[in-house]
Amino acid sequence: MARRRQLYEGKAKILFEGPEPGTLVQYFKDDATAGNGAKKGIITGKGVLNNRISEHLMMRLHDIGIPTHFIRRLNMREQLIREVEIIPLEVVVRNVAAGSLAKRLGIPEGTRLPRTIIEYYYKNDSLNDPMVSEEHITAFDWASVHDLDDMVALTMRTNDFLTGLFVGIGITLVDFKLEFGRLWEGDEMRIVLADEISPDNCRLWDAKTSEKLDKDRFRRDLGRVEEAYQEVAWRLGILPEATNSDMKGPEVMQ
Ligand code: UDP
Repeated sequence: MARRRQLYEGKAKILFEGPEPGTLVQYFKDDATAGNGAKKGIITGKGVLNNRISEHLMMRLHDIGIPTHFIRRLNMREQLIREVEIIPLEVVVRNVAAGSLAKRLGIPEGTRLPRTIIEYYYKNDSLNDPMVSEEHITAFDWASVHDLDDMVALTMRTNDFLTGLFVGIGITLVDFKLEFGRLWEGDEMRIVLADEISPDNCRLWDAKTSEKLDKDRFRRDLGRVEEAYQEVAWRLGILPEATNSDMKGPEVMQ
């Protein structure tokens, strides 16, 4: 495919102009960051795996009627997506205590929460993505009350569906982060799921051993980072030729 105009480069992805108006190409890099860019590294093959994992999960969500920005995967590292107006919020869903919630509230990691908790963070690198409430979101007009209702409904459905999907492959969905965008079709606006869903923005623990199969392996220097991403892809059935012995990864199939 001919080179396109680059519109935006983030920490893990690049957005290019798409082939048609209203479309973009999302390119997945191997770059990894943690602590808002304080720790940087490369996870070899991560971009290829996240492209496949996110494609798979977005398609399954589409199958149950959850609207997403995903159109189709183009190649190993790129997918075609709809251009949306990104809502500047990170919506974090938690089923089990981990990460910043465990630290902030002094709850041991791994404690199952009494019910699913949704948190919002304002997307702003220079402010370190501060946690905000619905009050802040509507007062500063980052999203309307109606937008928030839609986002919460989509978030809960996504959590229910993905929790079940991961249980089926022996993985606990501990927590994850979603982003949403406004998709305009004429005068009509719909809130759709955007960004990506991958081990970069989910905590995924082996259901039996609680072994971490996500970016915490990079954040916490646990080693075997590439292997963890491959393991998730393999369990999702995306790497059909996998030998899976000792979490050693196969080549990614196109
Ligand atoms: N998360 C993310 N991007 C961020 C912050 C968090 O994708 O900028 C995801 C993270 O992977 C985890 C969930 O959101 O699955 C909750 O993260 P937490 O608030 O515990 O923050 P962390 O411990 O990662 O700093």
